Amino acid sequence: MEYFILADTYEKLERTSGKLEKVNILAELFSKISIKELPKVALLTQGIVFPKFTSFELGIATQMMIKAIAKATGFKPKEIEEKFKETGDLGLVTENYIKKRRQVVLFRKKLNVDMIFSNLQKLAFVTGLGSQERKLSLITELLVSAEPKEARYIVRTVLGELRIGVAEGIIRDAIVNAFLFKKGMSKEEKNKLTGLVEHAWNILPDFGEIVKISKEKGTTGLKKVKVQLGKPIRLMLAEKAESIEDVIEEFGKCAIEIKYDGMRVEIEKQGDKIFIFTRRLENVTKQFPDLVDLCKKNLRAKECIVEGEVWGVDPKTHFPLPFQQLSQRIHRKYDIEKVAKEIPIQVNFFDVVYLNGKMLFDKKFKERRKILEKIVREVPEKFKLADQLVTDNIEKAKKFYNNALELKQEGVIIKVLDSGYIFGRHVGGWYKVKPIMETLDLVIVGAEWGTGKRANWLSSYTLACRDPDTGKFLPCGMMGTGLTEEQFGQMTNTLKQLIITEKGRKVKLKPKIVVEIGYQEIQKSPHYESGMALRFPRLIRVREDKSPEESDTIERVKELFIS
Ligand code: AMP
Repeated sequence: MEYFILADTYEKLERTSGKLEKVNILAELFSKISIKELPKVALLTQGIVFPKFTSFELGIATQMMIKAIAKATGFKPKEIEEKFKETGDLGLVTENYIKKRRQVVLFRKKLNVDMIFSNLQKLAFVTGLGSQERKLSLITELLVSAEPKEARYIVRTVLGELRIGVAEGIIRDAIVNAFLFKKGMSKEEKNKLTGLVEHAWNILPDFGEIVKISKEKGTTGLKKVKVQLGKPIRLMLAEKAESIEDVIEEFGKCAIEIKYDGMRVEIEKQGDKIFIFTRRLENVTKQFPDLVDLCKKNLRAKECIVEGEVWGVDPKTHFPLPFQQLSQRIHRKYDIEKVAKEIPIQVNFFDVVYLNGKMLFDKKFKERRKILEKIVREVPEKFKLADQLVTDNIEKAKKFYNNALELKQEGVIIKVLDSGYIFGRHVGGWYKVKPIMETLDLVIVGAEWGTGKRANWLSSYTLACRDPDTGKFLPCGMMGTGLTEEQFGQMTNTLKQLIITEKGRKVKLKPKIVVEIGYQEIQKSPHYESGMALRFPRLIRVREDKSPEESDTIERVKELFIS
């Protein structure tokens, strides 16, 4: 397929804000493509060339991209950089330069999807001496042959900023429309098909695969989708509960577990191979050799997927270390063994969803826990089951909760004993109870350079919630206080890398950093695009474990406004 067709579709999607229209545009594209190209296009429409759970990175920064554009167009890097600063969109800047292209190109190939996909994938594997040059030529090769519009999207894809507003739900619905829905089907039948694609995708979160199965094998194929060890599944999450009483009054006897203060891990064992994934489905196996070792020795199953919380242990007090310290381990690329010794960890397992070829999603929680108890051989202070109390006695449950807080953990998760493993956040499964008031996980989309003593700091952060339909981030508040000097410094260093445009003291930022925010009150406000405003927002912590796609939605903000 010619890349131009894809670029054209991107443009249509970019110009459309309606969800249904976007679904139709994408479905039409999907239905025209050959089975060979379909998985590639499914990834490309998400702006990626590897499923999100692989740890491959294209590793192209803005500066290198500017060099590639200069090479392909004959314009000076400085000129290109200046235009970029004005507009904040290197894709559009490239498009304009390609239109004015100064270099005469003798042999221009027509770009197709295969070429784009293969060159971009290669970027991730170029390493060692001369790697910069080789990367540069892989991109230049594409830009030299690109039509202006194609160039816009190549640049954006390489930089990881496609900006066409296609959220996962839109791809799911487009798959239904393109391959499964038949004329004359009722709304209920269509909903069932949507549920089926969603379920398959929860088990195998790779649209490249799901789209292929849907086209080739339809609903029969989707129903047969199985866990593939080495790839993560999507996770079950907890609803917020007002109080312990609320949950116990509704569900009776429940399992109350400590909510450990660390990071969620999904651990897969396949013979002597171990894979560790985070809540964002990133593969962090390499960063945790100590945990891999413990799993090899103490998970008593040939194959399994278990879930737990890993937390950093303060060797003196045995209380959890601050998340920032644990996160040093997550991001570590060298000296891994050394940091592993400096920041010891404990894991507490709370679920099992797969055992020796069998998926356990439909089993009740109490049955899964029994299986888990058989699989996990506990090692004191290292490799444990989650502490649990099964009760309908509110007093005992509250005592358990207070004990969790005394251990400096976050609170408790209350689990409905008869609930299956439900992907995502749903009622009737897990409920979290924590002492602090309801917080919001928001994305920083803008900031301002300070004045006077703060001149070198980015402060006054614009916080935004997510519109799940369009994938856009809608501002809902400004936060300027509540950070220590050190935090302002760190935040400035992080945000500096994300600047899109600068006007006076104001900067617009790529939506990457998720922060947990406390506030005094939520109000309606015409001042912000979301129509809502947080009063006195304050930083609770940076949520490194969350991606912007997991930040709270505008609906959530409105719900909290009403409640
Ligand atoms: P939250 O991140 O606030 O939505 O709370 C849900 C998270 O709590 C899960 O994703 C886990 O990382 C964490 N957690 C800690 N202890 C447990 C537990 N015993 N059961 C389930 N989740 C837990």
